[in-house]
Amino acid sequence: MKAVQYRRVGQAPEVVRIPKPVPGPGQVLLKVTAAGVCHSDIAVMSLPAEQLRFPLPLTLGHEGVGVVAELGDGVSTVAVGDSVAVYGPWGCGLCAECAVGKENYCLRAAELELFPPGLGAPGAIAEYLLVDDPRHLVPIGDLDPVTTAPLTDAGLTPYHAVKRALPKLVPGSTAVVIGAGGLGHVAIQLLRVLSPARVIALDVSEDKLALARSVGAHDAIRSDDAAAGRVRELTGGRGAEAVFDFVGAAPTVTIAAACSGIETELVIVGIGGGSVPVGFGTLPYEVAVTAPYWGSRGELIEVLDLAHAGAVSVHVETYPIDDAPTAYQHLHDGKINGRAVILPH
Ligand code: NAD
Ligand code: ZN
Ligand code: ZN
Repeated sequence: MKAVQYRRVGQAPEVVRIPKPVPGPGQVLLKVTAAGVCHSDIAVMSLPAEQLRFPLPLTLGHEGVGVVAELGDGVSTVAVGDSVAVYGPWGCGLCAECAVGKENYCLRAAELELFPPGLGAPGAIAEYLLVDDPRHLVPIGDLDPVTTAPLTDAGLTPYHAVKRALPKLVPGSTAVVIGAGGLGHVAIQLLRVLSPARVIALDVSEDKLALARSVGAHDAIRSDDAAAGRVRELTGGRGAEAVFDFVGAAPTVTIAAACSGIETELVIVGIGGGSVPVGFGTLPYEVAVTAPYWGSRGELIEVLDLAHAGAVSVHVETYPIDDAPTAYQHLHDGKINGRAVILPH
């Protein structure tokens, strides 16, 4: 089968032919219908060899939707032909976090060397994907696989971040979304459907600001030295009740902190290496700073229920599998509006 692999540190991904996997006991083989391209892959492909936590080659892709093609022995909870989305942060299934569906925070993943598909285990940008356990699948029924695949990360990750901030997002409140890309443009929609907050989007690209407005941002402003002052003006000096940074680099976390007010939820989702100093007097009183990772199995079901209700739609740009390396290049160059999705068949 064809697969898109990161094969050598520092080199671009390549389309290769590898054997089609065979499901072992308890496993499920999917024929992949759509797989999203996330900026985290670019971060992984920028790491020096000593910081990579898994061996190469790696088949990329941690946002996948497919049709069940083959069942390993003992699998009875899904059937051949089912259209399913893949929950990516695979845990052990047994620890206290996994027991409540938070496999993204599995207590034993490192010890057991459990990796998400595309981030250590073979990923979804391939004709077929092996899934370790049917509990990592959510049936999607008649949802469009192309717009649904990104919801498994670009939907789930902002959903988790927004959900925990909802108690702060009362009528009259403001939420700031920094970075209106794959995750950010979904975050704006989630904020609009789940809260009465005014949503202010920040980005460095006019195209992304236009996308932010089109998916529901009340204001979309350039992310520069004046941005935090503008947010303060728009909030009557008070600052935003929640700030979501989908870039997470030094300049954006600085803006995020400067947009914050008393008791703000400041959520750093982007992995751009920035950090916010926390201490008495460095931030307004009781700002809560968190850096979450992905979301729970239950939250993925909730995100897909929102999709069934028509409440979120991902803006996608599709590529055939042979052009997946181009999709990564376009994402790297800031040329993707919304999410790039690979169609392996
Ligand atoms: P993306 O490339 O689709 O979007 C990034 C957006 O940020 C783009 O619109 C870009 O124009 C904008 N941007 C860049 N610099 C900016 C700046 N200085 N100010 C404002 N906007 C700026 O990326 P994505 O796939 O949406 O991922 C976003 C980030 O989230 C990445 O760092 C990714 O690795 C990370 N991520 C984290 C998790 C997690 O669980 N914490 C999960 C998925 C992705
Ligand atoms: Zn991702
Ligand atoms: Zn676990």
